[in-house]
Amino acid sequence: MSNFTVCARFRPVSSRERQDHGDSVCIHRIDDETFSLKDDKEYEFMFSFDRVFYEASEQADVYKFLARPIVQDAVNAINGTIITYGQTGAGKTYSMEGVHILDCDEQKKGILQRVIDGLFEDVSSSHESIKYTVMLSMVEIYMGKIRDLLDPSKDNIQIKESKSEGILLSGVTKMSLLDPADALLILSNGLTNRAVGETLGATAFIYSRSGKRWTMITVHGRIKCGKLVLVDLAGSEKIEKTGAEGMVLEEAKTINKSLSALGKVVYALTCGTTGRGDHIPYRDSKLTRILKDALGGNSRTALLCCCSPSPSNAAETVSTLRFGARAK
Ligand code: ADP
Ligand code: MG
Repeated sequence: MSNFTVCARFRPVSSRERQDHGDSVCIHRIDDETFSLKDDKEYEFMFSFDRVFYEASEQADVYKFLARPIVQDAVNAINGTIITYGQTGAGKTYSMEGVHILDCDEQKKGILQRVIDGLFEDVSSSHESIKYTVMLSMVEIYMGKIRDLLDPSKDNIQIKESKSEGILLSGVTKMSLLDPADALLILSNGLTNRAVGETLGATAFIYSRSGKRWTMITVHGRIKCGKLVLVDLAGSEKIEKTGAEGMVLEEAKTINKSLSALGKVVYALTCGTTGRGDHIPYRDSKLTRILKDALGGNSRTALLCCCSPSPSNAAETVSTLRFGARAK
């Protein structure tokens, strides 16, 4: 399997869309990887992804295909990133968090809850000579600044890069997680501190150490750390369409800049020519700088392109899918 998995997901038709277009959809399923899409000008497009999740797909299927392998690797100290991309209302947050992070309905649990469950499952079933600590930090990027969601008084976190530890968010709060229930409480607390519609990054750091006791330094005495970053991106819709003004417009411009920077990084990483010396434009935005050591190199990335199936959103859906297709 490649280091980069790109999937598309269509949510069910919303009640608003149903009022205008009934149950009609602009996509036609061909198989689990391929579908065609007709836009409002009756142009037909074909798209293929590693997997396509249609309207009836389950949260558990999305997790299993796209996130489970990355969780397993993170426990073995391989960094990973899981990103949801798409226009506002397309199902990014639903895919990531379900309806509510503390909602215990097993069926609706999002990637976030399942990742937490998966992490603890792997950590507790691992060989007893390996000790793990799972820690969590949560930030959002708002108006180009990094805010700590676990301590909102830290509203301008700086990015540092260290040779041994990779990308560091200087002074960011890291909470150690005792068990899945504890993790969800911390996550839900952090989520309430989020500004509306912003880019969210939750990072689980999985520290592991061989040796029977924490204080024991083994021959390979270095603590290994796998970093797993979950990113619920801001809406990708065109600014003109939102009719934003003032601060909101400024924020929309910042968001567009970081999404296009992400697109360029992803493209550079996946277009196949990225030998060692090739330039990957991580520095173009805070988002890509933060993701630098969890995106590309040996790390694993999954991109979930969330889409509406409705003809009324066909143009935005095509642009979301093109973003994903460029990453393939
Ligand atoms: P986004 O985060 O992309 O702006 P949301 O995740 O908030 O969009 O989804 C918009 C609405 O659609 C929410 O009410 C959400 O519950 C619903 N929704 C999204 N995806 C699904 C899905 N796969 N199944 C059922 N409802 C969904
Ligand atoms: Mg959202």
